[in-house]
Amino acid sequence: MEHLKGEKSMLGRRPKSKKYSPFRSALQISLAYIIAGISWILLSDKILYGIGLDGALISKLSVAKGWIYVLVTGILLHLHIMKVLGRIYEADQALIRNHKELIEKDKELKEKVRELTESEERLRVLAYRDVLTNLPNRISFFDTVTNHILKFPHKKKALIFFDIDNFKHINDTLGYLVGDQLIIAIGERLTNLIDDNKSVYRISGDEFVLFIHGYEYQREVESVAQQLIKSIRESYAFANITLNISVSAGIVLYPLHGVDTDTLFKCADIAMSYAKSKNRGGYSFYHETMEATLKERMIISNELRRALDKNEFQLYYQPQLNLETGNICKLEALLRWCNENLGNVPPSKFIEVAEATHIINPIGDWVLNEACRFLKELHNIGYSHIRISINVSAIQLMQVDFVDKIINTLKHYKLDPKYLELEVTESVLIESYENIREKLGLLKSKGISIALDDFGSGYSSLNYLIQMPINTLKIDKSFIHSINQNAQGESLTSMIIMLGKELGLTVVAEGVETKEQVEYLEKFKCHMVQGYYYSKPVPGKEVLNLLN
Ligand code: C2E
Ligand code: CA
Ligand code: CA
Repeated sequence: MEHLKGEKSMLGRRPKSKKYSPFRSALQISLAYIIAGISWILLSDKILYGIGLDGALISKLSVAKGWIYVLVTGILLHLHIMKVLGRIYEADQALIRNHKELIEKDKELKEKVRELTESEERLRVLAYRDVLTNLPNRISFFDTVTNHILKFPHKKKALIFFDIDNFKHINDTLGYLVGDQLIIAIGERLTNLIDDNKSVYRISGDEFVLFIHGYEYQREVESVAQQLIKSIRESYAFANITLNISVSAGIVLYPLHGVDTDTLFKCADIAMSYAKSKNRGGYSFYHETMEATLKERMIISNELRRALDKNEFQLYYQPQLNLETGNICKLEALLRWCNENLGNVPPSKFIEVAEATHIINPIGDWVLNEACRFLKELHNIGYSHIRISINVSAIQLMQVDFVDKIINTLKHYKLDPKYLELEVTESVLIESYENIREKLGLLKSKGISIALDDFGSGYSSLNYLIQMPINTLKIDKSFIHSINQNAQGESLTSMIIMLGKELGLTVVAEGVETKEQVEYLEKFKCHMVQGYYYSKPVPGKEVLNLLN
């Protein structure tokens, strides 16, 4: 800046109004020289005469006069040219400095433009990418699918929309950091599934979509869905916890279920909700009837909210007999709901809605209390050997105070823990494996019995059988019904009985309906039996008839 100031003052010395002209300046100097020369020639002699010198002396001095003139004008010219050249030199230096500065400024400007372009690009990427997983996001999903439909309208495409079962619970119990870690890990697994024909998007929270750009047969889509579900199911090992999760997926096909992205997405969402309720941990293809089913569930869920207050629940009991002695030793409590608008609603219709809405928690509390109250009544009138079994769902087990609730209720009714059994299904064990194993282990250590219900019906895994703290194995009715009906199922039944005994478990066969089934179970020395052959579930007041 200093040099700029200097340069301004230098330029400031020039007349601002008149434009500088080199021709005029040169002419002025030449004219001044000529005028001064002529004046010198004409006036110098007159001046000498004037001061009284004589002619001889003046003609002698004329040579010296010439020399003086040349010397004086030479000196004046020299001074003037020096001044002009000095100015030119200064102006030149200022120009050089200016030029350098301009080059610097140009560089800075270019750098700024580059930075701006970069951040613009970054912003563009951010708008289309999910920060946590680095997968393309919802905006990108809608863009890509819409463009694809425009570009290849005749190509069959599919969307698999899925989310994590009970993700809220993971966040609530293990914290958001674990939840985030899980989402990142899922993102990585999904990235491994991507190829030229598939892309994956994180829509929001725990929701993802896999887009199949083209397929020929539906089974290809199904195979992708299976692969996806299997890959996400594999357990996750974080710093000090192991997580087991499942996802439920809804599938839509283009153009069968819709021809625009919005419709396809909406249908995929419906199919996913449907899968969650009817086929948890699996996948469902969209179908128009799903909307009616989901509506029915809405009505059930609304009625369920008021059912406890309106006292609409009742417990039925189904006896379990010792196969050797034929004595009733345990009762399974089964929930019944009679609603004023819907009539009798079977558990198969309302239990899963109660689970999905978590209303199962207060309902489960009621069941526990009612079953213990009833058992105490039986003990008090002399049937003190009878035990009771209640069904608990995954949602109930995930409650932080679940163990306390059980212990406190037993204390309240002064019941020994050995009289209570909790029935859990395998699907319960799959989610939050570690967390639930701990709770069940604690309950078992307190003397409460744990039964694995419906064994063989789901994702039967020997792993669960060996690692889970259980006392009782309940063979699913489908195996019992295969006796005398289907050789493979029948032989599996005997194998499960032997396996259960080998592991030191009490084996219970449920859904026993025929004499042949009883004989078969006797042959393989199954410990206990339960089913219509002996008794249907009956209300509390009829239990005494059975016991007598
Ligand atoms: P589950 O625990 O497997 O209960 C046995 C089901 O089999 C009962 O159906 C019972 O009525 C039925 N059953 C018993 N014997 C036979 C037979 O010989 N043949 C046939 N075909 N079926 C037989 P229910 O009462 O409809 O209960 C259905 C499911 O609802 C139960 O399956 C259980 O998972 C669930 N559930 C029932 N009560 C509760 C409850 O209080 N809490 C929870 N979380 N779930 C419950
Ligand atoms: Ca059961
Ligand atoms: Ca069962």
